[in-house]
Amino acid sequence: MKKVTILIPAYNEEEVLPALLDRLDSVAAFIPRYEFEYLFVNDGSSDGTLRLLKQYSETNPRVRYIDLSRNFGKETAMLAGFDYAKGDAVVILDADLQQPPELIREMIRWWEQGYEDVYAVRAQREGESRMKEWTSKTYYKVVQKMSPEKVYPLAGDFRLLDRKCIEALRQLRENERYTKGMYGWIGFKKKEITYYADVRAAGETKWSWTKLFKLAMDGITSYSTAPLKVWSYIGFAISFLAFLFLAYEIGKTLLFGTNAAGYPTLLASILFLGGIQLISLGVIGEYLGRVFVETKGRPPYFIRESSDEAEEDTHGKKGRSNDVD
Ligand code: UDP
Ligand code: MG
Repeated sequence: MKKVTILIPAYNEEEVLPALLDRLDSVAAFIPRYEFEYLFVNDGSSDGTLRLLKQYSETNPRVRYIDLSRNFGKETAMLAGFDYAKGDAVVILDADLQQPPELIREMIRWWEQGYEDVYAVRAQREGESRMKEWTSKTYYKVVQKMSPEKVYPLAGDFRLLDRKCIEALRQLRENERYTKGMYGWIGFKKKEITYYADVRAAGETKWSWTKLFKLAMDGITSYSTAPLKVWSYIGFAISFLAFLFLAYEIGKTLLFGTNAAGYPTLLASILFLGGIQLISLGVIGEYLGRVFVETKGRPPYFIRESSDEAEEDTHGKKGRSNDVD
């Protein structure tokens, strides 16, 4: 029997876990031709998430968990999940039930027809501010324009990935991850389906504006060098205009004499150029920072413990970090 892993990154989600488990169990009961495992990645939660997961893993044979040594963020938590997932297909699901697990049935149907990446696009986001919706739409438009690969707007992490995609994603081990861009980059046969997003079942959103901004930056700088290159064009245009302006000023002075009226324009142009230079330095800094982080070549995460350990101990293996296989 083929196995489907449902991968759930969880950060302080104790309030939704009971409801989530119920929903998952009823979905699994509906699809008896597959074996299911729910692989929870506890991303350094400070509430009772881990305690609950331990309990569930003892009573529910489908539940597995791994416990990261601290909060690494959802992107890295997902990578840890890819490493530990045992299924022939992996469905990534948020813990908060904003994405209906019932859709997994439809995903599996498309997977059976040979699609390797069945991704769900949300049709609308209820209970979310206009501002957030607008920002995310505009952001995806910009990323789309700048990236050589297709980034699928509105397609999140809620998707079914064939084992082949998982093996591909496991090889992309950069630390500052932007998984949404990776799905497009690795290729494979894709299928889009739609769903209606719900409001969070319980608990609070873990995303703050600063986290979103960082993710947005990673999204752009990890997939596009356009921001690096655009400055040479802007610099060239500005220098050219400045040259014309200078020629005009010289001509004027020669013909009509001069007074001190040029002082404000001089100051303005210096400040303007200074600003442009600072921005371009900042852009270089963004990329340099990424190079710095990646050249350290650190493992993306560490595991404190996992539900597999009981089995492993009897086989004399221990102290496993993230170098699986
Ligand atoms: N999450 C995580 N680590 C983090 C932040 C979030 O594992 O540092 C998980 C969280 O538990 C949830 C999913 O990522 O399962 C999506 O988070 P959330 O619902 O807070 O984001 P939103 O839906 O508001 O974008
Ligand atoms: Mg959510």
